[in-house]
Amino acid sequence: MQDLYKKFKDYGKVKLNEPLAKHTTFKIGGPASFFVTVTETEKLVELLKLLDGKGIDYFIHGGGSNTLASDAGFVGVVIDVKTRNTEVQEDVFIADAGCVTVAVAQKSMAAGLTGFEWGVGVPGTIGGAVRGNAGAMGGDMKKDILKKVDVYIDGEVVEMTNEECEFGYRESAFKNNGGVILRAYLQLKKAEPDAQLMKKALEHLQYRSSTQPQGFASSGCIFKNSDFKIQNAECLDTLREFDA
Ligand SMILES: Cc1cc2nc3c(=O)[nH]c(=O)nc-3n(C[C@H](O)[C@H](O)[C@H](O)COP(=O)(O)OP(=O)(O)OC[C@H]3O[C@@H](n4cnc5c(N)ncnc54)[C@H](O)[C@@H]3O)c2cc1C
Repeated sequence: MQDLYKKFKDYGKVKLNEPLAKHTTFKIGGPASFFVTVTETEKLVELLKLLDGKGIDYFIHGGGSNTLASDAGFVGVVIDVKTRNTEVQEDVFIADAGCVTVAVAQKSMAAGLTGFEWGVGVPGTIGGAVRGNAGAMGGDMKKDILKKVDVYIDGEVVEMTNEECEFGYRESAFKNNGGVILRAYLQLKKAEPDAQLMKKALEHLQYRSSTQPQGFASSGCIFKNSDFKIQNAECLDTLREFDA
C-alpha cells in the first residue's frame, strides 16, 4: 500500500480511503482505496498505462454529477481528472477532459463563438459530457458540436471523429470500449457581433432554475426523455383492442 502510495504521487495528489460521498452530487459513496487528482494530460496517460500494465482497477471521476458510488466504496484507484487547459483555434474550442462544462460554455461565448450556449446549465466535466453525450435545450455533444476527441484506449492515445464516437441519446462508444477521453475539439461558429450569446445562456439558466428544484443533493437527469405521444398512441390501440 505504501509503495503504491509513493508511486502514485508521481502523477498527482493522492488521498487514501477518500470518501466518494465528498465527490458526487448524490453525496453518496464509500471510500476509494486511492483517490489520485491529476492535472496534466501527459501524467494522466502515464498513470493509465501504469495501472493497465499492473492490472489495477481504476475508475475515472469527472465532476461526479452522473455517478452513483457504492456505500462499499471502490477497491482500486479513482482518477480525479482535473486537466483544465483550453485553447481557441479559429472556430474550434479545444478543452481538456477535466474542464468544467459550464466554464467551457462561458469561455466559448467570451471568445465570440456560438453553438455551446446550452453547456452553461450542465454540471460536470467535458470528459463526462462526451461519454454521456450530454445535452440540454435541444443541443447535445453529437449535434454539430464535437469535431473529434483525443482518447486513451488499449494503451494508446488515438483521435476519434464524431462518427467514431457512435453517439446516441445519452450514449457513446466510450460506455462500452473503456476509452478515457483526454481532450475534446468543439466545432463552433463565429457569432455575429450583436448575437447576445450571454443573454441567451442566461435565459437557459433562468428556465432551468424555474423548472428544477435547487440546492439539494441530486443526480440530475436519472430518467431519459421518452416519446410519450407514440407510447400513448400504442397504449390507446391496446386498450381499444381489449375493449372490442
Ligand atoms: C443538477 C443536475 C443537472 C443535470 N443536468 C443535465 C442536463 O441538462 N443534461 C445532461 O445531459 N446531463 C445533466 N446532468 C447529468 C450530468 O451533469 C452529465 O451527465 C455530465 O456530463 C456528467 O459529467 P461528470 O464529469 O460529472 O461525470 P461523472 O459523474 O464524473 O462521470 C460519469 C461517467 O463518465 C465517466 N467519465 C467521466 N470523465 C470521463 C473521461 N474523461 N473519460 C471517460 N469516461 C469518463 C465516469 O467514469 C462515469 O462512468 C445533470 C446532473 C445534475 C446533478
